[in-house]
Amino acid sequence: MDPALGPPNAMAEKRDELTPMMRQYHDLCARYNDAIVLFQVGDFYETFCGAAERSARLLEIALTSREDSTGEYPMAGIPIDNAESYIEDLLEAGYRVAVADQVEEPGETAGVVERAVTRVITPGTLTEDELLASDDNNFVAAVARGRGIDTRPADDELALALLDVSTGDFLATSSAAEESIADEVSRFAPAEAVVGPNAPSDVLPDDCMVTPFDERVFDRERAASILSEYFGEPDALLASDAEIRACGALLAYAEYARGGEHEGEKGGDESDESDDAGKAGSSREPGETDRLEYLTHLTRYDPREYLLLDAVALRSLELFEPRAVNGRDDATLVGVLDETACALGGRTLRDWLRRPLLESHRIEARLDAVEELTGSVQTREHCHELLRDVYDLERLIGRISRERANARDLRSLRDTLAVVPEIRDQLANADCDRLRDLHENLDPLVDVRELIDDAVVSDPPIEITEGGIIAEEYDSDLDDLRGTARDGKQWIDDLEARERERTGIDSLKVGYNSVHGYYIEVTNPNLDAVPENYQRRQTLKNSERFVTPELKEREDEIVGAEERADEREYELFCEVRSDIGDEVERVQGLADALATLDALVSLATVAAQYDYCRPEILDPESERTDGGVEIDITGGRHPVVERTQESFVPNSARFDAEQRLAVITGPNMSGKSTYMRQVAQIVLLAQVGSFVPAESARLTPVERIFTRVGASDDIAGGRSTFMVEMDELATILRDADERSLVLLDEVGRGTSTADGLAIAQAITEHLHDAVGATTLFATHHHPLTELADDLPDAFTLHFEVEQTDGEVVFHHEIEPGAATGSYGVEVATAAGVPEDVVDRSRELVDANAAAETTARTEPTADGGTSELESTETAPVPDSVAAELRDLNVGHMTPVEALTELDRLQRLLEEES
Ligand code: ADP
Ligand code: MG
Repeated sequence: MDPALGPPNAMAEKRDELTPMMRQYHDLCARYNDAIVLFQVGDFYETFCGAAERSARLLEIALTSREDSTGEYPMAGIPIDNAESYIEDLLEAGYRVAVADQVEEPGETAGVVERAVTRVITPGTLTEDELLASDDNNFVAAVARGRGIDTRPADDELALALLDVSTGDFLATSSAAEESIADEVSRFAPAEAVVGPNAPSDVLPDDCMVTPFDERVFDRERAASILSEYFGEPDALLASDAEIRACGALLAYAEYARGGEHEGEKGGDESDESDDAGKAGSSREPGETDRLEYLTHLTRYDPREYLLLDAVALRSLELFEPRAVNGRDDATLVGVLDETACALGGRTLRDWLRRPLLESHRIEARLDAVEELTGSVQTREHCHELLRDVYDLERLIGRISRERANARDLRSLRDTLAVVPEIRDQLANADCDRLRDLHENLDPLVDVRELIDDAVVSDPPIEITEGGIIAEEYDSDLDDLRGTARDGKQWIDDLEARERERTGIDSLKVGYNSVHGYYIEVTNPNLDAVPENYQRRQTLKNSERFVTPELKEREDEIVGAEERADEREYELFCEVRSDIGDEVERVQGLADALATLDALVSLATVAAQYDYCRPEILDPESERTDGGVEIDITGGRHPVVERTQESFVPNSARFDAEQRLAVITGPNMSGKSTYMRQVAQIVLLAQVGSFVPAESARLTPVERIFTRVGASDDIAGGRSTFMVEMDELATILRDADERSLVLLDEVGRGTSTADGLAIAQAITEHLHDAVGATTLFATHHHPLTELADDLPDAFTLHFEVEQTDGEVVFHHEIEPGAATGSYGVEVATAAGVPEDVVDRSRELVDANAAAETTARTEPTADGGTSELESTETAPVPDSVAAELRDLNVGHMTPVEALTELDRLQRLLEEES
């Protein structure tokens, strides 16, 4: 157990003897025993004992100690005012943080100030803007196992629930296939997850924090009951038992993380001896905390509704992360597409990219809107300008609903509402349905805006308890109190003149300081003239300060009125905030409309600026496409590469039922990988509803994109690269179908040439004959081009390079047919490899070519004498031969067979 977590031993031993404050700390640590408890003491959050030592080292803050009658405890504290940056460091170090705030004013009670955990901050449940990327979601996930829809007997379905606690986005899906859930996890990249009983955690990526949480919340009944509190009957909303469990558990976790351990529930269980001790939430009944009102929607989706992109495809198509380790941040698809003006749109655009569409009518609806906005520069630019003033309404309303918003947040909401009518006007004459819908849905929430305008001053302070927030004439009680204070101050303001006249002392002054309050100051030479009713308060070097009973009375009146006014303001503020909180769904509806508009405007901006075209989307059911995929791109460009270099050579691509599989050859650096990715990215962009970088494009939506890049530069998890490659290939061969787009980039590199070729050939045949996927296969195995000539639906493409005086010129132009040579040697020259090495390479190439010809023309049975052949026919060692003989080929999967081959081959190498 981490000594930074749980109740410190030094305290646990003598809990009952501890001072009340330290007992509070101890108990909160016991209750939130998977988190570092930040314990408010005045202006600081303190940690003690093990947590203090850990925090001091981690955060580079001073380690001090606190001594009381029961002992001395190490202590380290962080100032509350900039706690966020420290909390961020704790999270980064892998800790969860429970923030225990003072929930009553120190003067209010005789005993120790009450403290409660007001939030538990974990990587997946962040709500503070400072800790979150504004233009991306931050998800926490729950994975649960349960019965499927069709009452399968066993718990054989796996569900995934995803929640962004900061925005309220809440999604659920399920599948009987684990890989499918793993793919969905890759899409959303949750920062944290809770995992139900018997659910596999290996569907989660390594960088996802797995939080141990009370497994009872995954119980079907409990989950259903908490869900029904939010969304009514869960069976009507969700498709399976597993989904109910995952969603219910996730809600319970979100409520737990929200904290909110309020009065009447002091401290932790005295002795938590239950089985679940040591797990967060174990001492808490699910659903016992306040509801998170802003969770108003739960969207269930089927993974099959969207273009499926697994983790490998997401990476190699550079959707969100640049492929090169030190790649430029904007060298990603999202980087080139994101011209959004506000955080709302940024997140929506990312969601669209994560989940490209399949159904042509949905795609067309977006395309119509993008086309219209592309055509109208004015509308587009105006919208963009106006959207820049739009605050993050989703997080704002979340904060309002969680009672964490301050008056400035309300003003931000108001300022956003103020631009909505103008944005709406921009769409008044919209043609397409999508934009007309948006026009409809851009509700400026006039009532909310008026409420804020009436209630909150235009430039309120951050603090919500110190007044200065509520506008004049909003509340008559408040106005009265303010009137009293104002009158009192006026009386004091006039006092100076009155007293000067009364006493004849011209230098008499009325002043104020925070210790003594108001006073009348008289300089020493005038002390004789001081009247009877002056009472001496303070003696300074050159003067004396006095008060009068009247002045004191006025002062008390002012202070009393001001205090009560502050209280009244706070009360009013909370009322206003809660009234606005009641409008959460309308604010979310508006946020959604603004987000959609921003994302559409962004796509249109990119389309116009970079000369994209509207893709024609073919209906897969139509006769023309014959149920398969047709892709016809003229003058296509790679959306990312074209931005990172000066010039880019456009290339076309044509695939249909008769031309389904392309074998692409060409020297290194000629453009093969770029070409293949550009085809896939254009397809993907089209399905997002974006215009595409091409002169024209026509395509059938694909259901899955698979990409596999040769293992040479992709070493994962210590497994042999060959194994990784085979594993990934196995997935493709198993899951791809005629609605898939498959990119194979130099697969079969992880093993010897002969094997590589054999595997590449077998894969090609399989994809062609059995799978029928649209396939682009870049390869250095030239014999594959001959194979392609033999297969009816396969064809060849190649990149040529030009050599002039040993210089190599890349044209990056795709052409039909096979490449003539690999030009590896020439590329080496161009790259500056020393001349003698290049010369020797040339010799070897020639020799090998000669040997290859010999080998082909003279059958091996003749017992050829060339050096090459004699090594090839070296006898197989007995041990390997024996193993080969014993292989039970009938019981092996292709991958097992390949793996076994690989092993035997290594054995051979060792033995010879
Ligand atoms: P290969 O896969 O054949 O080795 P790449 O696709 O990796 O080649 O391309 C190598 C480099 O050539 C790219 O990084 C890019 O800079 C450039 N390139 C590729 N295709 C084009 C193109 N169509 N127009 C301009 N430059 C290109
Ligand atoms: Mg390549």
